[in-house]
Amino acid sequence: WRAVSGRARTVLLAAPRSFCAGVERAIEIVERLLEEHGGPIYVRKQIVHNRHVVEDLETRGAVFVEELTEVPPGATVVFSAHGVSPAVRAEATARSLDTVDATCPLVTKVHAEARRFARRGDTVVLIGHAGHEEVDGTLGEAPDRTVLVETPADVAALPDLAQVSYLTQTTLAVDETAEVVAALLRRFPHARGPGSDDICYATTNRQRALSAIAADADLVLVVGSTNSSNSKRLVELASRTGVPAYLIDDAADLRPSWLSDVDTVALTAGASAPPPLVDEVVEVLRALGPVSVQERELARETIRFTLPGRVR
Ligand code: SF4
Repeated sequence: WRAVSGRARTVLLAAPRSFCAGVERAIEIVERLLEEHGGPIYVRKQIVHNRHVVEDLETRGAVFVEELTEVPPGATVVFSAHGVSPAVRAEATARSLDTVDATCPLVTKVHAEARRFARRGDTVVLIGHAGHEEVDGTLGEAPDRTVLVETPADVAALPDLAQVSYLTQTTLAVDETAEVVAALLRRFPHARGPGSDDICYATTNRQRALSAIAADADLVLVVGSTNSSNSKRLVELASRTGVPAYLIDDAADLRPSWLSDVDTVALTAGASAPPPLVDEVVEVLRALGPVSVQERELARETIRFTLPGRVR
C-alpha cells in the first residue's frame, strides 16, 4: 500500500447508488418477521444478491435455503426479491408452509405481463440471463410459451414464430437490451413489448449516473456481490467506456495495484449493496491520502413500495 499512499485523489460518487426500493422492502420484510417471531425465519434463496445483507440477517436468525424441501412443514418462509415461479408457490402450499412474499413489485409486474401475453396466444421472448433466479421465476409463468434470449445472435437462432411479444429481466444493461430488442423487431416486426420498460427505474438510474462520471475517472469501483446482476452490468458499462472497472464486495477487496497513477476514482454501488459499504471505501482511500469527494446526482429517487399486510 505504501507505493500508492500520499497522493491526493478525487472520488466521484454516482447518485443514485446502493439500495433500491425493492431491496429495502425485501430486507425490511425479513427484519420485521424476525422482530415479531424471532428466528428461525426461512428465506428461499438469498433475499437480495448481497453477501453482507445475507450474513447480517443470518446472525439475527434468518436461515437461507436453496429449496423448499429444506424448510420444516408449517414454518415461515420468505420468497426473495427476485420472485418465484407458480410451481414454487404450489410446492409451498403442498408442504403447508407459511409464505411471505418479498418479490419486488416491479418483478411481479413482469410476471403479470408474461401471463397476459401467453394468454393471448403469443410466444413470449424473455430477454435475460439464463440461470438467474428472476429469469427462472418469470419463465415459470408460461414455460411452454416462453423462450429465453440473451443476445442478437440468440434472436437470429429463433424459429419462425407467428405471434410474438417480449419482456426483459429488470436488471439488464439498457444499451445492450436495446440492441436485442432492435434485432427482435427486425426479425418479428409485429412483436409487442411491455406497456412500460421492464428494466426498472433503479437499474436505469444507476447506469445513467455511472455513465455520467465514468469517462472523467481513471478507475471505476462498483460495490456489489458477484451474483448481483445490476452490479455486474455497472462494471461492464464502465469497462465499455475504456476505464478499468472492478466489482468489490467491500473495501477489503481493494487492491493497491488498481490505484497506482489514479487521480480520480468513480465510485458507485449496485441496488443490493448497503450504503455504508460505499462510505467504508471512501475511508480506506482517505487513509491513503487527501480525498475530495464530489457527488454527482443525476436523479432523485423517492419511490417506496408498501410492505405486505402481514408485516405492516
Ligand atoms: Fe426491484 Fe429494480 Fe430493485 Fe430489482 S433492482 S429489486 S426490480 S427496484
